[in-house]
Amino acid sequence: MAKKTFADLIKEVHEKGLCGRCGGCVSFCSAGDFGVIEMSPDGPPVYINKDKCLECGICYLICPQIIAFKDELKAKYKFDYPLGYYKRITQAQTTDENILRIATDGGVVTSLLIYLLDKGLIDGAILSKKIGPFSREAIIATTKEDILESAGSTYDVSHSIYETSKYSTYTPTITSLKKSEEKEFKKLAVVGTPCQITTIRKMQELGVVPSNNISYVFGLFCTENFSFDKFLKEKLENQLKIKLKDIKKINIKENLIIDLINGKRINIKFEQLEDYMRPACHACKDYSNHFSDLSFGGLGAPDGFTTVVIRRPNGEEIFNGAVRQGYIKEKSLKKDEKQDIISKISKYSNWKAERAARFLENLEKN
Ligand SMILES: Cc1cc2nc3c(=O)[nH]c(=O)nc-3n(C[C@H](O)[C@H](O)[C@H](O)COP(=O)(O)OP(=O)(O)OC[C@H]3O[C@@H](n4cnc5c(N)ncnc54)[C@H](O)[C@@H]3O)c2cc1C
Repeated sequence: MAKKTFADLIKEVHEKGLCGRCGGCVSFCSAGDFGVIEMSPDGPPVYINKDKCLECGICYLICPQIIAFKDELKAKYKFDYPLGYYKRITQAQTTDENILRIATDGGVVTSLLIYLLDKGLIDGAILSKKIGPFSREAIIATTKEDILESAGSTYDVSHSIYETSKYSTYTPTITSLKKSEEKEFKKLAVVGTPCQITTIRKMQELGVVPSNNISYVFGLFCTENFSFDKFLKEKLENQLKIKLKDIKKINIKENLIIDLINGKRINIKFEQLEDYMRPACHACKDYSNHFSDLSFGGLGAPDGFTTVVIRRPNGEEIFNGAVRQGYIKEKSLKKDEKQDIISKISKYSNWKAERAARFLENLEKN
């Protein structure tokens, strides 16, 4: 059978509106020097030099929307429905007051990254640095300061992002991985949503350089990402009866939670936000980031704590190490509290998987 190429990605993913613009295909195009494909300003990546395509098929295989390698990943990571394989589920909090103040939930992701850097277990981390309430950019963090700049979702309202025309909670962090190759990083951590982590695991499965330099894979729980332009921004502001510049913090747990500078909190159900959802998210079945070493979410946790799913031995080792060395503290949970957290993650995992199944079925029919 002929190898599938970027032309097949266009047909099977782009034309169906399923491209999440993760940037994996463009970053890892094996004919990179010839500039065969590139990101477009808004839509999916495009051919710019089709004749030079080597037709190696890597772009097709690593796309998170393509089924290839998913069975291999499920087997390798001992996938079990609906949560994926895990060793332990717990909750924790950073011991650093400053991190807790700026973190999304318990600041566990930030503290674990600082622990890894302090102990020389990584030389960099691929993160998403905030530049506004609905906007971030991909960075390779090499210092504690860089890691802190990526923490949380509390924003400085003076940021210039309010003048831009595109808003998105999604960051194409994978594009930084290619840059890490040029700078010769050897031990990297990556933090990402399930689609990003799936792409990374596919690259590792295929031996695509430099994914072999990733030592720690931190997955975030994810219901969906939002993206909108100026028109939809005004619509959202009218719908919520707020101005985006008045937002202090955004969080996603059972609902989208918006904390305003004036101290007011608004809870918005996901169903009310369908107009702003990235279409690619409709097709995603992974809520709790099945293929990560550790996954993190706010779901089921009280304010100021992160729910942590410890999946792989390396994840367990660094979590325990960070507790022992006083970077984070683990919450003591009773048996029924643990069960409640597992039930909540299962509920959202089932909901997301069923939503994707319905969406894909309708797509097939039309
Ligand atoms: C788009 C998105 C959707 C989410 N949906 C849910 C959900 O439905 N339910 C739930 O319980 N939790 C969800 N989370 C996870 C949750 O918001 C927290 O990130 C998690 O609980 C870790 O909290 P923390 O305080 O330990 O992290 P922090 O210490 O605050 O660190 C946050 C880390 O996340 C990284 N990050 C932030 N935004 C992005 C992004 N867009 N792409 C890649 N990396 C990013 C930063 O680089 C930083 O390292 C979502 C996160 C994101 C980014």
